[in-house]
Amino acid sequence: MAKKICIANQKGGVGKTTTAVNLAASLAAAEKRTLLVDMDPQGNAGSGVGIDKGGLAESVYDAIINDADPASLVIPTDLAFLELLPSTTDLAGAELELVVTEGREWKLKQALSRLDDRYDYILIDCPPSLGLLTVNAMTAADSVLIPLQCEYYAMEGLSQIIKTIKLVQKGLNPALGIEGILLTMYDGRNNLARQVSEEIRGHFKDLAFETVIPRNVRLSEAPSHGRPIILYDITSKGAVTYMELAKELMEREARNG
Ligand code: ADP
Ligand code: MG
Repeated sequence: MAKKICIANQKGGVGKTTTAVNLAASLAAAEKRTLLVDMDPQGNAGSGVGIDKGGLAESVYDAIINDADPASLVIPTDLAFLELLPSTTDLAGAELELVVTEGREWKLKQALSRLDDRYDYILIDCPPSLGLLTVNAMTAADSVLIPLQCEYYAMEGLSQIIKTIKLVQKGLNPALGIEGILLTMYDGRNNLARQVSEEIRGHFKDLAFETVIPRNVRLSEAPSHGRPIILYDITSKGAVTYMELAKELMEREARNG
């Protein structure tokens, strides 16, 4: 059975997609069979691994709305062990179409259950909202990884997503856990960033990953080359820290059984 992690935060630009792409690539580099599911209509996770949504006839949309076989929608990437279940712009309409669909919160879970035994990890990149697409991802997942930028309103944003996680736990997915809070785009020279990171660690303790992703220009360049950071510049600080994150995640898992 695959471990399914959804990467969510209702705020845009906090590093969700960067984390989904590069954590997935790092797990694949460790020879873990990994599926990256792009649940954002923008399709940035797909372009991050070199697959442009414009050229695709079908996507995860067809799996959740038209009950298409998800196995037929999966695309290989340049990295062995890493495959993509892509998004297309159709997915923007799914948010509304799902409203009138029976079992609307369960559609992604149903689709992924057909792929479960093919992978060690399934990572789901969520759109920047807590709407039905994200609720589908949380219902399908074992845990939520929350990327967080160390800025002024970080704590408030965090309590909002935790409220959503609790709602999902109550009705839809009691076993949903929090994989961890990941500080992203960190700049240790910035006082506020240091303060926020201390506050998060003080409050959430071990729930915050030890690994912190620094602000790193190579990470922001890699998507325009359609490459995860380990294929773009493996010596960069960004590549090293995402590989450390994969290691931390695997070690935590081994510890917790
Ligand atoms: P989200 O998916 O939450 O909207 P992204 O992962 O797309 O966020 O990141 C937003 C922008 O910040 C992108 O342009 C991305 O390349 C850039 N970015 C993400 N993480 C870093 C980082 N650690 N250092 C520098 N730039 C980053
Ligand atoms: Mg994104």
